[in-house]
Amino acid sequence: MALKGKTALITGSTSGIGLAVAQAFASEGVNIVLNGFGKKEDIDAAITSIKGKGVKCLYNGADMTKPDQIVSMVHDAAKEMGSLDILINNAGIQHVAKIEEFPPEKWDAIIAIILSSSFHTIRTAVPYMKKQGWGRIINNASAHALVASPYKAAYVAAKHGLAGLTKTIGVELGENNITCNAICPGYVKTPLVDGQIADTARARGITEEEVVRDVLLKAQWTKKFVTTDQIAKLALFLCSDAAENITGATIPIDGGWTAA
Ligand code: NAD
Repeated sequence: MALKGKTALITGSTSGIGLAVAQAFASEGVNIVLNGFGKKEDIDAAITSIKGKGVKCLYNGADMTKPDQIVSMVHDAAKEMGSLDILINNAGIQHVAKIEEFPPEKWDAIIAIILSSSFHTIRTAVPYMKKQGWGRIINNASAHALVASPYKAAYVAAKHGLAGLTKTIGVELGENNITCNAICPGYVKTPLVDGQIADTARARGITEEEVVRDVLLKAQWTKKFVTTDQIAKLALFLCSDAAENITGATIPIDGGWTAA
């Protein structure tokens, strides 16, 4: 693949899907800028592992609720790596609660981390991509960018907003050799989902086993969790020449959930 030597900035890449995507891009020779929270020893281990694949790797701890930190992170990434070719907006959090009990501060945080942060990374990264004449923007959205579930008002609103942002940027940059697409996964077994299992059990008054069988995988016709590796391979495909005409798309990888 012709991605060797390019640079990818991946938000929320200290864990779960983001980290798996970072590892997969590094394996293709892409220099990586990691972002996200976590224990210093875990982040250091991720950097060492990525550098072990023969690429450059930087870490920036910008908080995705802070626009000034987001903007500085994008500029620093481009300056320190020499280019910024691929932007993957992936940072996200979840909160599960009835609407009348939904904490306003959780609403604000989810909208900021999932939706507004993507606006800030994109608006700052696009001038670099336009100058280079090539760019790939991938928003890791969700099946919840396409359909709703109860008790997830902020997350579903933020992900639907991210789908709208994806379409707008895709068409706006159509002639700039920059594509913008959203990957819309169903349930992936990561720390974020592990947390939701307990929360959903509490909100619905059922056991954790019932949450997995009757709630999470109820709508996934394959009855399998999506894997981080499958998402990473889709992201790599979206960065290939074969995908240059895929833009503004919201692509489900959800075991058929949003088809029925
Ligand atoms: P995760 O909890 O393993 O990872 C989330 C990442 O976001 C972590 O690196 C965390 O440090 C980072 N993050 C959180 N708040 C941040 C902040 N304020 N600033 C910077 N970084 C921050 O979760 P995951 O399951 O890997 O989720 C990654 C993305 O995939 C999210 O956007 C999520 O909505 C989406 N997604 C997940 C699933 C799933 O089933 N796991 C399904 C569809 C979509």
